[in-house]
Amino acid sequence: AKELGRDGIALFTSEMTAAVRKKLSRTDELRQAVLRDEFVLHYQPQVDVQTGRIIAAEALVRWQRPGEGLVYPGDFIALAEETGLIMPIGQWVLKTACRQARAWQDQGLRPIRISVNVSARQFQEERLIETVADALHEAGLDPSWLELEITESLIMKDLSGSIARMHELQKLGVKLAVDDFGTGYSSLSALKRFPLSRLKVDRSFIADIPHDADDMAITSAIISLAQKMGLEVVAEGVETEEQARFLIESGCNQIQGYLYSRPVEEERFSRLLEGNGCD
Ligand code: C2E
Ligand code: CA
Ligand code: CA
Ligand code: CA
Repeated sequence: AKELGRDGIALFTSEMTAAVRKKLSRTDELRQAVLRDEFVLHYQPQVDVQTGRIIAAEALVRWQRPGEGLVYPGDFIALAEETGLIMPIGQWVLKTACRQARAWQDQGLRPIRISVNVSARQFQEERLIETVADALHEAGLDPSWLELEITESLIMKDLSGSIARMHELQKLGVKLAVDDFGTGYSSLSALKRFPLSRLKVDRSFIADIPHDADDMAITSAIISLAQKMGLEVVAEGVETEEQARFLIESGCNQIQGYLYSRPVEEERFSRLLEGNGCD
């Protein structure tokens, strides 16, 4: 029994070691990626359904890992968050996105807002306000063109802290959107206290439209709620004409999804903007 026990422990330990080693090497690669500047932003348009024009771009980070091609955020953001590497990565994303927004304006293209995802750790970080202000200042971008997307579940983890933070950001002049709305169980009374400009209806509610009656009911309820509160609404993950039609009929202002465009590289986005009409 003693032998077995020892074996059991030995086995458990070596499995642990393998897992830990793998994670450490992945962390190491990610740290190298930060130093070597291996990240790139793709941009996905958000379209105003009334005018058919692009009004905003969501910046989405990718890791161009040598020999592996593009690595999507689902495969490294959680590790970045856990290890704190999200700080330098997030800072790079903010700077790059602000610079890009300004560059498009300088090209004489119709100005659009740039949306940047902010993770929990970034949002809680002491220096966030300074980081955002620096990125705007360096790029020469007016704060009103920047929108930060924070998830509903992040806000709900520390409601009063989040509200205070949101007010600080609002004072800076940036816009705030709640991402993945409908998945984080925020109470309606809490929502009223957020200094928000937009809600993003989570993709999971859009995916099964027009086949899932519950999702349709939830989606149109979120849209009318947002409207009553004076918020803009953008539906994410819109892939089909039918989904778009339902959303428009429900009063949704803006859509984002493969139907209009996948997230694309900077140059391709410029071309989309060039066809975007003028005032
Ligand atoms: P998210 O903020 O909910 O971003 C939307 C995700 O849905 C993106 O995936 C986008 O490519 C994808 N998407 C857009 N339209 C469609 C569609 O019509 N159908 C489907 N099936 N998918 C669509 P992506 O780029 O892989 O990003 C995944 C998540 O990673 C994001 O979810 C966001 O939470 C996170 N993320 C991305 N970039 C950053 C970043 O710079 N910083 C942080 N902290 N998180 C980021
Ligand atoms: Ca987002
Ligand atoms: Ca989202
Ligand atoms: Ca999502």
